[in-house]
Amino acid sequence: MYPFTYHRPDSLDEARARLAASEDGRPLAGGMSLMPTMRFRLASCADLVDLNAIEELAGIERRNGQIRIGAMTRHAAVAASPEVGEAIPALAALAASIGDVQVRNRGTIGGSICFADPAADYPAGVLGLGATVNTDRRAVAADDFFTGLYETALEDGELVTSVDFPIPERAGWAKLGNQASRFAVVAVMVSLAGGAARVAVTGARTHVFRAAEMEAALAANFAAEALDGIAMPSEGLNEDLHADRDYRAHLVGVMAKRAVRDALAR
Ligand SMILES: Cc1cc2nc3c(=O)[nH]c(=O)nc-3n(C[C@H](O)[C@H](O)[C@H](O)COP(=O)(O)OP(=O)(O)OC[C@H]3O[C@@H](n4cnc5c(N)ncnc54)[C@H](O)[C@@H]3O)c2cc1C
Repeated sequence: MYPFTYHRPDSLDEARARLAASEDGRPLAGGMSLMPTMRFRLASCADLVDLNAIEELAGIERRNGQIRIGAMTRHAAVAASPEVGEAIPALAALAASIGDVQVRNRGTIGGSICFADPAADYPAGVLGLGATVNTDRRAVAADDFFTGLYETALEDGELVTSVDFPIPERAGWAKLGNQASRFAVVAVMVSLAGGAARVAVTGARTHVFRAAEMEAALAANFAAEALDGIAMPSEGLNEDLHADRDYRAHLVGVMAKRAVRDALAR
């Protein structure tokens, strides 16, 4: 690990000021992704700004037909939340499917979407549910937030404060997880709201994406059979020791159908 100065502000304003004052400052959330990358010297920063003492960044609230989840809310809290469980049970299921108990007790929704791992689950939840990412500067639609491999629309020093999830009529989650890490080999979030369907896929490309042809079919008929005959091209999909491109392409179809069935069963 390279040397750095550790800061532990207890307000959002102080965290912003710390980051603004640093040439190379970085927020720390659950540390589940950032700490190992710093430990292996794949990442470094002059100032590490720990967000864990900032109470205003954590919590879950239902208001105006939306569920707002604070950036520092742990995966375990989302999985166990009565508000999320009642309004968007597929989102609670997503959170419960992340990693293991230790990861769910430390990892946060803000850290997960800011890290933007290609196999992370929350990006599919955020995109598949048409959420809005709130920062200390603006509100960013999910469609504009994830921009590439480990890349987001965030500017230097910009902090995610919360995520707003509109409550859909239906939503479903399906994931084939790596047996060791439980990161998604392929996972899919589907939702239906106001006659429009969303299908968001994670694990299959450099970053989360929507499957437009599947969305059109599901908007016309929200049933797993509506996806019959829609093949995901394997070109451009990820390939690694866990799954080659053709298998991942096949999995997108299988997971999308399972997600629709999950939505209809909830
Ligand atoms: C063994 C293991 C298994 C895992 N399995 C899964 C899995 O199955 N599915 C899955 O989705 N994930 C999985 N993860 C990742 C886990 O969900 C992490 O919690 C997540 O990737 C990062 O969240 P964090 O809160 O730990 O963020 P950190 O590691 O603290 O930060 C990650 C990045 O986000 C930045 N950041 C953090 N918060 C903010 C903020 N509010 N505003 C701006 N930038 C911010 C940090 O500067 C850093 O660059 C796993 C991790 C481990 C170690």
